[in-house]
Amino acid sequence: MEVVVMFNKEAVSVSGLKRMKHCDWTSSTTSTSDNLHLYACPRCTKRYKFRTSLYRHLKFECGKEPSFRCPHCSYMTKQKAPMQRHIRHTHGINI
Ligand SMILES: [Zn+2]
Ligand SMILES: [Zn+2]
Repeated sequence: MEVVVMFNKEAVSVSGLKRMKHCDWTSSTTSTSDNLHLYACPRCTKRYKFRTSLYRHLKFECGKEPSFRCPHCSYMTKQKAPMQRHIRHTHGINI
């Protein structure tokens, strides 16, 4: 996946961590423990199970203003999916 490759390029600056994360990544696929969320954001307290999720968070969420605003109330979010869920659940509108 191209996204993972790009993230690896960014993660290279942290020496040694890349290989360690790779090990955790491979072992995490079989485990169901909660400490799977080992991809911690360096800028906030968010933790992610998948490297790609952390990458997406860093690129689109962390430090960014919410870009999706509910047209029916003041709810705001940084991602499209939670917004669609909000509109469906809170306002009962199917989108
Ligand atoms: Zn963050
Ligand atoms: Zn709303």
